[in-house]
Amino acid sequence: MSPATGIKAPRCSLGWIFALCLAVLFLFAEVMGATVSLPEILLSSPYACQGDIVLLKVRVEKGEIPKLTWLEKDVPMVALEEGNWCGFLGTDLKFAPGTYPLKISTTPSGREKSVEIKIESKDYGERRLTLPREMVELDAVTLRRVRKEAAAINSVLERTSAEPSWKGPFLKPVEGELSGIFGRRNIINGLARSPHSGVDLKAGRGVPVKAMNHGKVVFTSDQFFSGLSVVVDHGGGIHSMYFHLEKILVQEGQQVTKGEIIGQVGSTGRSTGPHLHLGVRVNGARVDPLRLIDLSKELE
Ligand SMILES: [Zn+2]
Repeated sequence: MSPATGIKAPRCSLGWIFALCLAVLFLFAEVMGATVSLPEILLSSPYACQGDIVLLKVRVEKGEIPKLTWLEKDVPMVALEEGNWCGFLGTDLKFAPGTYPLKISTTPSGREKSVEIKIESKDYGERRLTLPREMVELDAVTLRRVRKEAAAINSVLERTSAEPSWKGPFLKPVEGELSGIFGRRNIINGLARSPHSGVDLKAGRGVPVKAMNHGKVVFTSDQFFSGLSVVVDHGGGIHSMYFHLEKILVQEGQQVTKGEIIGQVGSTGRSTGPHLHLGVRVNGARVDPLRLIDLSKELE
């Protein structure tokens, strides 16, 4: 055996190792390619509880438009940079727990995909209150007024501008600490009433209240329960509600920008002291406004 042959053998093994490494690399690239095949849905969490929000991020091929469907309804999406979209999915406070598919299809290619989102029940606790009877048991005239007012605000919340006008993070309208949590059941004089469908933020009378994001004022009214109230439609199925105001500084139909002052904190309507009741609806679902503020920080 010549020394040259002796050298060739190890070269040959190295060649095989090199070839094997290449094959592994190609296989890895194939597998990676398969996992990121578009469209891709990224969820802030595959789980949500009642009254919760999931932030959706979607990646599609250049030039494609995604359409997301949840419970047979479209989920409005906002275009970010090329091929990237985002949106929010709301689960109502009383949403039936279970596993539901979120479907995506893209235009024009017609690609389809689906992911499962698990909705779990959540006990937000209860608050027992004893109030004078006349504050709780409404006379016929007041009851008629309350029903009319509820119908008016609900019809506003059912309509939404499809085109999202919100952009980036949603801000906290006042810098007050939390004095009333979202979702708590109210037991008044021993009887179950509507659960708390927003959060109460502690703030002094007259403190300016800012719009959480860009949008259009779609409702201003003096309501029996919520006092001076403002609703802003941020488009794409998102509404924010500001209750018990001392003063309203905007008009119905007015466009507002994020952070614009829309009113002042007060204690109008059925309220025990100055605070801001903040409510948020995502596609009609009553959700925790603080979750929207937290999750949307990611969009900065
Ligand atoms: Zn409240």
